[in-house]
Amino acid sequence: MTLQVQGLSATSGRRQRILIAGAGPAGWAAAGELRRLGFSGEVLVVGGEPVAPYDRTACSKGLLDGSSKPSETWLDVSDCPGVDWRLGRLVVDLAPAAKMVVTDTGDCYPYDGLVIATGARVALPTGWPRGEPGMHMLRDMADVQALRRDLRDARRVVVVGGGITGCEVAAAIRDMAREVIIVDSGPCLMARALGKPVGELVTAEIVCAGIGIRLQRRVLRVDRKSGSWRVRLDDGTDLWADLVVAAVGERPETSWLTNSGLDISDGVLCEHSMKVPGVRDIVVAGAVARWPNPAYGVAPQRIGQWVSAIEQGQAAARALVLPQIRRPPVSILPRFSSEQLGLRIQVCGYISGGDEAWLTELRPRRRDKARAGLVANYFHQGRLTGVVAVNAPRAFAVATRSLLAVPRNGMAPMAPVNRSSVVSRSSWPVAVG
Ligand SMILES: Cc1cc2nc3c(=O)[nH]c(=O)nc-3n(C[C@H](O)[C@H](O)[C@H](O)COP(=O)(O)OP(=O)(O)OC[C@H]3O[C@@H](n4cnc5c(N)ncnc54)[C@H](O)[C@@H]3O)c2cc1C
Repeated sequence: MTLQVQGLSATSGRRQRILIAGAGPAGWAAAGELRRLGFSGEVLVVGGEPVAPYDRTACSKGLLDGSSKPSETWLDVSDCPGVDWRLGRLVVDLAPAAKMVVTDTGDCYPYDGLVIATGARVALPTGWPRGEPGMHMLRDMADVQALRRDLRDARRVVVVGGGITGCEVAAAIRDMAREVIIVDSGPCLMARALGKPVGELVTAEIVCAGIGIRLQRRVLRVDRKSGSWRVRLDDGTDLWADLVVAAVGERPETSWLTNSGLDISDGVLCEHSMKVPGVRDIVVAGAVARWPNPAYGVAPQRIGQWVSAIEQGQAAARALVLPQIRRPPVSILPRFSSEQLGLRIQVCGYISGGDEAWLTELRPRRRDKARAGLVANYFHQGRLTGVVAVNAPRAFAVATRSLLAVPRNGMAPMAPVNRSSVVSRSSWPVAVG
């Protein structure tokens, strides 16, 4: 079945073209979904990296510690028959009225439908030296290769930022028998992603694994002295290192949209359906999308997660080619997992913003509580909003079932349903600071 792109004149005689800006998971998923839906027009993907779409999450895991080869991370493009991949080039401008994008090669591409999927870029804090040897950020395969090259001769590494990516990077570097210290301004590592109660217990494991940490410290200055990096903290101490890795968060990649007139105040604002408000033929997906998740009643926000990028990419494709009546509401449960230092961390739903947590230790007598297994249910105003588990995959599956059963237009079920569903040997409420 050939579908008609909404908003096109069937008699224009022009070949229908959907242009996808960005060849990450969101762009790849949108391309595949267009073909699965039977869209037979032209699908053109312009991607900034010179390589085919791959599993970016491996950059802080297998690709960094060497346990995965790049060829093992390629996404399957046989799902996207006849898609035209223009890689290693950037879109630099968008003119929505003319339905046209311009690339850095000077080419202009008219489109009938546009998917904005340019993701995010890592941000180096203001004033930090750029392009200097031994100063690293981690976003793509090229970054991993550069870091691995430098790690050969490095003994000591400072990782600035103790979120999920920073901790994964530190764990991979520790596994390579290098000394590593994480600096973070929070009360524990991964506080935002895991919540404080779980974050504190995981932090204890990370310390046990031999990774140094400096918590509630900010970096004042980073400079290079006699071939080493000096990282000055706000308590006046200096950390010396051969390499510095900045893992201090990401910014949505909207620099090419400055003149577009779209709302790009924090990513590209879109509606529930992934459509840009007031513009018929533009949809957004992935880490660049600021989207209101209808199932959870949350204000528009960005989700920097792999599964969400894929699900949003598919939903964006549906929004372009299916009539509204045939489109199910876009409802995504944010979720990710991370393996580090023998800890399997699984997260589902919304953790930050929660004001109460129920923590269940699977083996309460063990001192290594996170390694021994735990599950935390996070609540906001008495309703379950998120679940975090460490080394407890079965309990995680049970606890997330009620989150998955969320009603379409409301919040997750009330707390008591979930409290009783958790494997409970030792449960107590914990105030989330
Ligand atoms: C090191 C690392 C580890 C991660 N680990 C996990 C994890 O374990 N679990 C998890 O859920 N999430 C993880 N993430 C986050 C996850 O990878 C992202 O949320 C996801 O990749 C977002 O997909 P996306 O397609 O929206 O954007 P991206 O993956 O950022 O892809 C966007 C693509 O667009 C290209 N692009 C940018 N600007 C332009 C332009 N102007 N023109 C053309 N192309 C452009 C970029 O080069 C890029 O290839 C990790 C991220 C990183 C960096």
